[in-house]
Amino acid sequence: MESSQALYLRTVKDIVDTQVYKIENPEGPLTEHDKEKIGEFGLIIKRGGLVAFPTETVYGLGGDALNASSSEKIYAAKGRPSDNPLIVHICDMKDLERITEDIPEDAVKLAERFWPGPLTMILRASSAVPRRTTGGLDTVAVRMPDNPSALELIRAAGGYIAAPSANLSGKPSPTTAVYVLEDMNGRIDAVIDGGENDIGIESTIIDLAGDKIQVLRPGYITNKMLSDVLGIRVETDPALLDPGCSKRPKAPGMRYRHYAPKGEVIPVRGTPEKVYEHICQGLENARKSGLRSGVICSADNASRYEADIVRHAGSLDDAEAAAHVFYTALRDMDDEGAEIIYVENFTDLGFGEALWNRLLKSAGSKWEEA
Ligand code: AMP
Ligand code: MG
Repeated sequence: MESSQALYLRTVKDIVDTQVYKIENPEGPLTEHDKEKIGEFGLIIKRGGLVAFPTETVYGLGGDALNASSSEKIYAAKGRPSDNPLIVHICDMKDLERITEDIPEDAVKLAERFWPGPLTMILRASSAVPRRTTGGLDTVAVRMPDNPSALELIRAAGGYIAAPSANLSGKPSPTTAVYVLEDMNGRIDAVIDGGENDIGIESTIIDLAGDKIQVLRPGYITNKMLSDVLGIRVETDPALLDPGCSKRPKAPGMRYRHYAPKGEVIPVRGTPEKVYEHICQGLENARKSGLRSGVICSADNASRYEADIVRHAGSLDDAEAAAHVFYTALRDMDDEGAEIIYVENFTDLGFGEALWNRLLKSAGSKWEEA
């Protein structure tokens, strides 16, 4: 009787406790102790468990990409629709062969230039990749992340980690281990705490398996950077830029509302002064309706708004700095109970397109024109 009781308690504890390992110095190289611990976490993945880990973009929720039941666990932990495919993370270019049918010359060029880094390529999948991992598709998304803990974990786990962002489906992507635990504590086996991510928004996704090479999700690597390497003009899937467009976005994940806090998000587009006036008017209306209001804006404007919660995300022409704090600002809005959240638009150029795209997703594809 006693022993079965003890066994029961241990089982429950095993289920609800997520182990956390903090990287000793996230800025420096991994220590021997880091490597030892990451090695243990790699074994957890090999045995079919789930481990969240830092990358240079956002935190990933990792399982064995070649094990269909691990992918199923990832979908369950996130509450993610099963037709929304996972990205397979590798740590060595030669590992690409096993999971793809043929590797186009363009993929090699892009990998040489941008891997390890925030670029995901869609390629034809080999039969080694379970269709649970690809959301039923015959193509597979692959990337090599630029983060020493991530690369070490992938190696320790056998070379292939399927990892979506480590948030509950629909929520903003986590940029710290604390945010991962907020969503995932008790749902996954372990998390590697590697501090705050460098970039703070997800990888660029480029399709190399379709009729036309195109960007399916904008990110840190811009169309211009891709065009320069490939010697052709690379454009974004038109369905993403115009949410009213009748075509469905080609990346399944881009069809869902995403990155969303509980409050209503309203991105506002226009010249800076018009945007400012438009938001002031919106805040005034919110006040009259008794709504708790929030604003995410440039540093310059932070003191000018009369909202219940104001978070600034750097300067208006620096989308990169804004991306870095964007998801944190959205999560803060949740923590502070904002019911309506106005967001100034950051530049439409280059990397700004990625930020605008995330904003539209978090707002359910609508915005206001100032
Ligand atoms: P996440 O892991 O949350 O950053 O999302 C990965 C996204 O990559 C998915 O939501 C899809 O939109 C996209 N994706 C993954 N695999 C494919 C694929 N084979 N074809 C097209 N898009 C894909
Ligand atoms: Mg995600």
